[in-house]
Amino acid sequence: MTTEQRITHWIAGRPWTGTAPRSGDVHDPATGAVTARVDLAGPDIVDAAVAAARDAFAQWRHASVARRTAVLFAFRELVHARREELAATIVAEHGKVHSDALGEIARGLEVVEFACGIPHLLRGGYTEQASTGVDVYSLRQPLGPVAVVSPFNFPAMVPMWFFPLAIAAGNTVVVKPSEKDPSAANALAALWREAGLPDGVFNVVHGDAAAVDRLLEHPDVKAVSFVGSTPVARHVHETATRHGKRVQALGGAKNHMLVLPDADLDLAADAAVNAGYGAAGERCMAVSVLVAVEPVGDELVARIAERIARLTVGPGSAPESQMGPLVTGAHRDRVTSYLDAGVAAGAELAVDGRKHPLSPAADTAGFWLGPTLFDHVRPGMSVYDDEIFGPVLSVVRVRSYDEGLALINANPYGNGTALFTHDGGAARRFQHEVEVGMVGINVPIPVPVAYYSFGGWKSSLFGDTHAYGEDGVRFFTRGKAVTQRWPEPSGTSRRGIDLGFPTHD
Ligand code: NAD
Repeated sequence: MTTEQRITHWIAGRPWTGTAPRSGDVHDPATGAVTARVDLAGPDIVDAAVAAARDAFAQWRHASVARRTAVLFAFRELVHARREELAATIVAEHGKVHSDALGEIARGLEVVEFACGIPHLLRGGYTEQASTGVDVYSLRQPLGPVAVVSPFNFPAMVPMWFFPLAIAAGNTVVVKPSEKDPSAANALAALWREAGLPDGVFNVVHGDAAAVDRLLEHPDVKAVSFVGSTPVARHVHETATRHGKRVQALGGAKNHMLVLPDADLDLAADAAVNAGYGAAGERCMAVSVLVAVEPVGDELVARIAERIARLTVGPGSAPESQMGPLVTGAHRDRVTSYLDAGVAAGAELAVDGRKHPLSPAADTAGFWLGPTLFDHVRPGMSVYDDEIFGPVLSVVRVRSYDEGLALINANPYGNGTALFTHDGGAARRFQHEVEVGMVGINVPIPVPVAYYSFGGWKSSLFGDTHAYGEDGVRFFTRGKAVTQRWPEPSGTSRRGIDLGFPTHD
């Protein structure tokens, strides 16, 4: 029997102590049990968090770069030291396996480490004698309070794509995590306090659309970084830009992996299974469509099916589990509905995940669905057209590279893609021609390292800048150019009235 806990907001360096008018269930997806209730913020709580961030900004924007960097280094050490308990928190609410949760923490820490280089990243330019006796230089300064709205699938890593750079650059932050797995954000807030971050620089409000919508229109929120599904990303981009904010809104995906006939088929089959079923397919960079250039379709389907049969599906906390449950019962039911829909549309259900055995450690009341493989899928079928966001991999067969490329480029999403081949010329052509923001060559999940930027194209990203890397620094700062002249000590500086527009000499 589990004890239900209360998860509440973190405002101005401490847990909120009020009484919540609304709250939501948080589940352990591996047992189906409700383990906690999370407070859901209305506009008043959002306003309190933004006010805390605004008050803290008045001080934090003046903190020296050296001081900010010291806090970031301390935060990095603390997250690293507490990674096991943080991972356990993620597993308990999201359901992914423990090693995968550790992986998301490690990839989030990469961005913290990149942000530790903020002294270098904020360096401006300087031009001496741009005009006679005149120097010009540039600065980058913080924006103010910024909002980070994140999805359920990476409760630690996705917020960490944004807030380390935002804070390093001198901004203050309000994070609105997914209400499905809210605890990781609170754990990170406590670590920031331990690292010495002043109260109010990092705040967490829990909630749903009502909290997000208040952040989008709040006059003191200067920028919004959003990650989630495409319809909500579009709404966030439209609403927040209408309210005069900077916005980067990362949306959904349908990632294609193109396998040419010369590819190493065992490598490709391994990659398809890892990228298709890791985290139960609940990754924005998951491979959900495998495009097989004939004649390799039959061979690939056989090798993938053989690997699926050996996968251990069970609770994320059990060391032998390779794939955990889906995040909620409703999501599991939605994903499962695609199995019948695919069959009705004429696709071949090569592996039915409903029949996959669960590990002995699994509680049958958990939100399970085993790995599923569809063959002979075509555009127009819902299994192809929709982002399913579960352990369902579709194989589409094409006759040529050109047909495969055209399929990928016609897709409305453009988050990630991968090509498997031994042909360097084909790989070079692919990276040049494919209309997708992140490309893997014999790499199935090409999430860029922290010093490059993360972002898709088309319906996978709304806005002008990608997450983290140099784009992240630009997003969280605004440029200022200073033109300066000091009177000559000799007193010979040019003086006098001249109403003409200044030019250079
Ligand atoms: P979601 O869009 O349902 O929710 C994302 C966030 O928006 C949550 O914090 C949620 O509370 C909030 N939200 C939900 N509905 C809203 C509404 N109507 N108005 C305002 N806010 C709202 O997404 P999810 O189910 O939590 O996450 C899965 C989705 O996220 C998938 O589509 C996945 O592809 C996408 N994703 C994309 C990336 C990327 O980098 N492009 C990364 C991770 C996840």
